[in-house]
Amino acid sequence: MAALSTSEVELPASSRFAGQKLEISITEDDIHRRVKELADAISHDFRGKQPIMIGVLNGSFIFMADLVRALDIDFEVDFIKLSSYGKDTATSGTVRLLKDISADITGRDVIVVEDIVDTGLTLKFLRARMTEAGPTSVTFVSLLLKEEVANLDFPLDYVGFNIPNRFVVGYGLDADQKMRGLGSLYAFKEN
Ligand code: 5GP
Repeated sequence: MAALSTSEVELPASSRFAGQKLEISITEDDIHRRVKELADAISHDFRGKQPIMIGVLNGSFIFMADLVRALDIDFEVDFIKLSSYGKDTATSGTVRLLKDISADITGRDVIVVEDIVDTGLTLKFLRARMTEAGPTSVTFVSLLLKEEVANLDFPLDYVGFNIPNRFVVGYGLDADQKMRGLGSLYAFKEN
């Protein structure tokens, strides 16, 4: 595993991105500060309610863990697993449901926790899946938003950071299933 705290990281030799370099995009400290702000806003807005926090696997697992631990309201958790990227760094254009939620969300306040919104395709799929179950409310939080490319017909409720249209890894996000453990967020270095 590459060093976790340097400003530049090289991808492992075993990776299909071997030799490419990553440069820091958002530091661990800035992420933690922003996650706390998001949690404070959600705790304020959902005071007296008991939302079900639904993490979108795999990428959101670290964000989800940090976010829920910073909440000071009662909540439940569940997960949904989707796939749109496969092994590439560009969306396949098709969203596949790999694992559905297990909780009954009818009549509940649902908060969907995404790592990143790129084209917005996954988000549209998630909204359709949640709405069909008749929840009281559906709220979307995403740590990252690629505002330039996202094509959304509804606004995200909470966004951590707007980022440029570059592939990022770390803090739960992968490059071909690797690099999820990096504490900060990194972007592929342009040559
Ligand atoms: P969308 O459907 O909005 O195009 O893409 C959403 C999903 O694609 C995210 O949940 C994430 O899994 C993946 N994704 C989009 N952009 C990136 C990126 O820059 N880095 C990584 N690692 N995954 C991304």
